Parts: sequence; C-alpha cells; structure tokens
Amino acid sequence: MGAWVNGPPPFPYEYNRENKRIYINEDKRVLFDYIKRQILKGEPTSNLAYELNQKGYRTAYGKHWNQIAIKRLLTNETHLGHTIYGKSKGSGHKQRKTQPHESVSRNDWTIVKNTHEAVMTEEEFAALKEDFDRRANEHARNRMHAKRYSGPIKCGACGYARSFVTKTNAKGEEVVTVKPCQKADAYGNKCGNGGGKETYVDAAVYAQLVEYKQELEQDLEGNNGSDAEQLEQELHQAEQKLDKAKKALSRVMEMYEEGDYTKAEFQERRDQRKEQISSLENNIEELKQRINYHEQVTNEERLEKVGEVLEVWDGEASKVNKLLRLVIDRINFKRDEDGKLIIQVVYS
Ligand SMILES: [Zn+2]
Repeated sequence: MGAWVNGPPPFPYEYNRENKRIYINEDKRVLFDYIKRQILKGEPTSNLAYELNQKGYRTAYGKHWNQIAIKRLLTNETHLGHTIYGKSKGSGHKQRKTQPHESVSRNDWTIVKNTHEAVMTEEEFAALKEDFDRRANEHARNRMHAKRYSGPIKCGACGYARSFVTKTNAKGEEVVTVKPCQKADAYGNKCGNGGGKETYVDAAVYAQLVEYKQELEQDLEGNNGSDAEQLEQELHQAEQKLDKAKKALSRVMEMYEEGDYTKAEFQERRDQRKEQISSLENNIEELKQRINYHEQVTNEERLEKVGEVLEVWDGEASKVNKLLRLVIDRINFKRDEDGKLIIQVVYS
C-alpha cells in the first residue's frame, strides 16, 4: 500500500512514475505555504486568487485560481501525508464502458497514513477547516437576511447578481446593504458599480409596483372585448400562408435556374411572390400586436399578483420574496457616473 493511484497529485506534489509515489516540488511548496499562511491570516479567498493570477501562477491543471480551487487545495487530506483509496467507484472516463462513477461514503474509504511527506500539520488542517466553515456560515447569514430581494437584484452595469451584507448599526438595528458589484475577472478587475441601502430599493420598488398596478388597471379598462381566440386562429392561418409563399418563391428561383422561365417571366413571378410575402408579414406583425394587447387574462392575473405583493409588503421577507418573484423578472440596480442610484424594475 501507499502507491499513488489517484491521477494528477495535488499542488505542490509531483508524481514519480518509477516508484509510483508522490514528492514535494520545492518551488511549488513555497507558493503552497504562502497560500496557507494568507488564508490562516484571514485573507479573503477571492483576493488571494486575484493576487495569484496577477502574479502568473496557475493551478495544477493550468487554470486560473479561484475561491473553489483554493478551498479544495487547503482541505485536501493528501497534504497531511495520507493517501486515500476508494473515494469513488467506477471510472470517470465517459468513453469507456465501465461501472458508472459514484462517490463512496467516508466510512468506507481506506486511508493509509504517511505515504509521503506532509505539507501541513493536523492542527493547521483543522484550523483551515474551521475557517472555511466559518466563511461559509457568514455567507449563508448574509444571504438569509437578504431574503426579501434575494435572486432578482442584478447589476445594472454588468448584469451580474448583486450580493448583500448585513451590519448592526449603533442603535443595534440590522441594516441590509446591497454591496458594490463583486463581479470580477480572474485578475480581480472588478465591475465595482456602487451599492446602497436595501431601504432605497424598498422605496423604489414599491413606488414602481404601485405605478405598474395603475397601468394594468388602465389596460384592462381599455380592452374592447375582441375575441383573443379568433385572433390566434387568424395568426395561425397567416403564418401557414407565409410559409407556402416562401416555398413558392424558392421554387420560382429553382425553375429559373433550370431554364424553365425567361428572365422577364421570372422577374414577374418573383416580384408577385415577394409582394405577397411582405403583405403577409405585415399582417402577422399586426395580429401579434393585437394579441399582445388583448391578453386580458394574463393582465388580470398580473394585476392580482401585484395587488398581493403590495398587501404583504411590510410582512415576512420570504413571503414578499416569493410573491415578488412571480411578478418581476429582475431589479436592475446601478449608480450612474454622478453616483445617483438608478433602480429599475423589469416585469416578467
Ligand atoms: Zn456589475
């Protein structure tokens, strides 16, 4: 026992083909120690990843570093000098016909200790695990408090989802804030579009929902009772006619190419078909607009839902969130060049 059979070994190890063992690459160990130290010091994983990428370092697979790669690296038991066997069954190779790949529970793993030199102590390993757990909990806490708007708030500058932070103010009240946009490339170049208090979002979204409700009400009053089903049928027929006309046009072209028409005949027939197509296309466009306008049922439903959201507005965050997501597609949140907050609700 003790041979390395787990594929490419993790950073900073290298595989020796001759005795099938893994060894530390001393250059890589310097970087590994640095990563370990920075995380134990409390450096955010994202910042560390940006720094490594900026300095030109890549993972064992030649990829950019990111939060997940760092966490995986520092929570890998291989670094304690152990080799784990039987972590998964079957083969990961999709092409080969073997057992399907599946994970095996930890109790059934075989862990062989001291198969190679360790690059961290058991104490460091435990401290790192605790640290990553704490970071994950903090993240979950911020998400929980942001429940009212979790999901729909996007950056109006880059489209990336906005995240939240919850802080307790001097009065002991919890204040939820939309963070400056965290979207960044692998080198840490951030979108950075400004953030703001959740209460600003509240006020803007509420006002826009009230306005939307009024618009829906006006729309419904203005409906002239036209039969939506009949319009749909007309649209369907027009689309079929268009399809036929397009096919006819391509036949005209083919026949001309094969010499069945004179040039004059061809031009006449072609122009006739083209005219027919363009008239059908106009007709279809108009029908579509009318159908859109007369979607009374949908607008009635929308109106009902908007009414419900406004009714529970001051209630439980998760309830508001659930109803809100039925009505809106997204909330674009952005600060313009002058720092002015622009909050735009996009309805679904
Ligand atoms: Zn952004």
